[in-house]
Amino acid sequence: MTTITIRGAGDLAFPVHSGLFINNQFVPAISGETLDTTNPATGNHLATLAAAQKDDVDAAVEAAQSALRSTWKTTSPPGRGQLLHKLADLFERDAVELATLEAVDAGILLADSTHLHVPQAIEVLKYYAGWADKIDGQALEIPNGMAFTRRQPIGVCAAIVPWNAPLMITIWKLAPAIAAGNALIIKPPELCPLYAQKLAALVLEAGFPPGVVNILNGYGHQAGQAIAEHMSIRKLSFTGSSPTGRLLLKASANTNFKKVTLELGGKGPSIVFPDADIENALFWTTLGITANNGQICAAGSRIYVHSSIYNDFVKEFSKRSARAVHGDPLLPDTTKGPIISSAQHAKILSYIKEGKSSSARLLHGGDSLDGNFVANTAFADVGDNDTIMKEEIFGPVAAIAKFETESEVVGKANDSEYGLSAAIFTNDVNRAHRVAAAIETGQVTVNSWGTLNANTPFGGVKQSGFGRDMGVEALDEWTTTKVVKFNILHTQNDAPSSRL
Ligand code: NAD
Repeated sequence: MTTITIRGAGDLAFPVHSGLFINNQFVPAISGETLDTTNPATGNHLATLAAAQKDDVDAAVEAAQSALRSTWKTTSPPGRGQLLHKLADLFERDAVELATLEAVDAGILLADSTHLHVPQAIEVLKYYAGWADKIDGQALEIPNGMAFTRRQPIGVCAAIVPWNAPLMITIWKLAPAIAAGNALIIKPPELCPLYAQKLAALVLEAGFPPGVVNILNGYGHQAGQAIAEHMSIRKLSFTGSSPTGRLLLKASANTNFKKVTLELGGKGPSIVFPDADIENALFWTTLGITANNGQICAAGSRIYVHSSIYNDFVKEFSKRSARAVHGDPLLPDTTKGPIISSAQHAKILSYIKEGKSSSARLLHGGDSLDGNFVANTAFADVGDNDTIMKEEIFGPVAAIAKFETESEVVGKANDSEYGLSAAIFTNDVNRAHRVAAAIETGQVTVNSWGTLNANTPFGGVKQSGFGRDMGVEALDEWTTTKVVKFNILHTQNDAPSSRL
């Protein structure tokens, strides 16, 4: 056990385990390796935790296999649902601790962790708790009898999670995986692992059988790679960057063809038509690129505004975005927490430098602030092929441009290798339907941005990846379909002709 002491927010102290969570026990890494996690707002050391290597991944896989052969195999679907409900109840009880650990470790505003991430995780746990005993197959007529499909668990599965909303994204994977009857190994992000240690303690308290959920903190190139290459892990659900996604697909191809789903980056277009409710559009477009410092895969980072409202919109957008209060994410007045790491900080500033050297017009921001902070920044009149219009920055940097016609802006929106998320602002219902259908993304919001619901699938097209978290669709990702055929008439009429 180690204690996380948080000063400045009522001097909170939270005990967390420092070990890997394997077979319902907290254990040191076999090699003794550790990782340190720091508070990105202050740079202060928060904790030293065990860091998993290949041997630890092997041990977790053995525990998961053993559970699948015994206790987990005999846990009924309603029993799986009850465990998820119990975990949701514990999340409700310990919401403050979960939110605070995520906020202090990942630099996420405590208000966002408290009012968005933890409640959303609870909503998703309850949603899939309800599904656990409803994952049914189909009855199918065939000429000599009947067939039915079984939707079976895949077996030992894994989830690799990024740092930008780690609790919520972990639960997007854990809840459907468990509802479907799989055993799971979770590799949390090394930059903010504390939430996962608390999650492990709650999994234990909820009464999950040993080996069903294993949580291995560690580095991507060690624990992550060992998971990706493991011959007995049959499915890997990944959320993170495109380069890592590429490595994971290669690792699958080079090993056991494990089923891989990839939730990768984005460069989301937000389109403001002249008939939109401008006040509403300003609210959501501003939020869409500044929330969580733009460190959101679905960030509305490309903002297209109709020429007839462009100048006024841009002026007001800039006024509102520049208002941020940077500081400690645990403090109630802070509206802008730190960037997760110095590497990410440097990456964002290099994109801002690139923007400044282009023909785009800097509206506000662009400054390097003290510490790990970046000012909200926006560029107007950004060219279609400018780097800041093309590449995912994962920072609070808006690229704004004007458009004239609907077909032109749909073309601009789709002129991207990414296809995760888009937002449309219009009061013309026909236009909303037309444009939503034409945009090449996994989700489109009309007159809002970034809303998440447990029953709506989330994921991308093109280089934003494939597979879906949430919704009934996620259950397809965590099950395999087997068909069983009964020859009821006892005929040989449909024997394959080659055997006659
Ligand atoms: P990342 O790819 O660097 O890391 C994500 C996870 O992968 C971490 O747990 C890391 O340890 C692990 N990892 C890194 N290298 C690995 C390797 N060689 N083998 C196995 N695992 C490895 O991404 P990040 O910087 O943590 O997250 C930011 C990226 O995630 C952005 O591009 C963002 O768009 C994307 N993202 C996508 C979604 C989505 O749902 N589509 C959501 C959040 C973030």
